[in-house]
Amino acid sequence: MISTMSNTDAVMDIASRPPTVFVAGQGSWLTDSDGRRYLDFIQGWAVNCLGHSPRPIIEAMAKQAEALINCSPAFYNDRMIQLSDMIAGHSGLHQVFLANSGAEANEGAIKLARKWGAKHRDGAYEIITMDHGFHGRTLATMAASGKSQWEQLYEPKVPGFVKVPLNDLAAVEAAITPRTVAVMLEPIQGEAGVFEATIPFLRSLRALTRDKGLLLILDEIQTGIGRTGRLFGFEHAGTTPDIMTLAKGLGGGVPLAALVAHRDVCCFDYGDQGGTFCGNPLMAAAGCAVIEQVTQPGFLARVEQAGGRLTNGLRVLSQRHSCGEVRGLGLLLALDLKCDTAAAVVELARKRGLLINGPRPDSLRFMPALTVTDAEIDGMIDILDTVLSDVMPA
Ligand SMILES: *Cc1c(COP(=O)(O)O)cnc(C)c1O
Repeated sequence: MISTMSNTDAVMDIASRPPTVFVAGQGSWLTDSDGRRYLDFIQGWAVNCLGHSPRPIIEAMAKQAEALINCSPAFYNDRMIQLSDMIAGHSGLHQVFLANSGAEANEGAIKLARKWGAKHRDGAYEIITMDHGFHGRTLATMAASGKSQWEQLYEPKVPGFVKVPLNDLAAVEAAITPRTVAVMLEPIQGEAGVFEATIPFLRSLRALTRDKGLLLILDEIQTGIGRTGRLFGFEHAGTTPDIMTLAKGLGGGVPLAALVAHRDVCCFDYGDQGGTFCGNPLMAAAGCAVIEQVTQPGFLARVEQAGGRLTNGLRVLSQRHSCGEVRGLGLLLALDLKCDTAAAVVELARKRGLLINGPRPDSLRFMPALTVTDAEIDGMIDILDTVLSDVMPA
């Protein structure tokens, strides 16, 4: 058993993975094949919002697996209807297409905007997106992303995306042409290293897109489902998008995503959009369980409180080790190290039983379970303190 697990030859080599092999998880903790435990502040990339193997998801999926796993997206099923209702009701938007990954939901958003442009804007199709933005790994969502490492990759690019700097309203205005149909961005750029779209920028962008008859598309794949202390990131700015995408936290660990839109924008004709697994009741049951938990009274207030505790802890470390600012909201936070030591910090932390992420050479990112306890936050800060003592230049 162990020997087959340590031979990784058949696993496609797409990332520099540590030799650790994980076999179990519970709450904020992961266990590897040697029985070592790790405090997990990555949580599947901000995916396991209720932690590893939470009871509500286990129970919802076990019950659903007994009842119905899949019946084709060409039919309604009860969980598809229930989850769509929940998302529409909580977001103030009206219609939901369930999908399997963030990139797929964003592809759907791009297609819906292009379809709407073809029908209502004289064939306008261009989408203005942000430098350093991240929207996924399909060809179109890579083109929509503003990751500089991808500029020369998989040519030729899908056309129709124009990039501007984040928080620069004048640049957005200058980029608008008769071909423009939408502006698309993340409320907080997660993969870029946790950089917020400012509230004034989001508000002016909403006013500008309304004024020019353009769609506002918010990619809430990382910020949605309670991650920032509100159910959706856009609530901080008090503005509603025309189209929103969700994934990561929505399934609490299982592959589930959603394209969510205002009724005025929903203009797909039959056959324009679909997917074999889209809306399957097994994953939708997990999504219902997640939203039920995250919308319990007090849940989001607790996320804010935990985020405050983590922010304070990181600020103390920053002072002690001469790092820079703490960025982000709720439980999507980053620490600026002010030097390119993130990779070394991440590696030493793992050796000491802590999993964190370095989205940039000079930054650490923290995205624990939304159910993380105060003791776990304090434990994380303690381990990171020892790691920074050993890695940071004196
Ligand atoms: C993770 C992420 C995506 C891509 O989601 P996948 O499920 O990996 O396809 C898109 N946008 C944002 C903001 C993300 O954080």
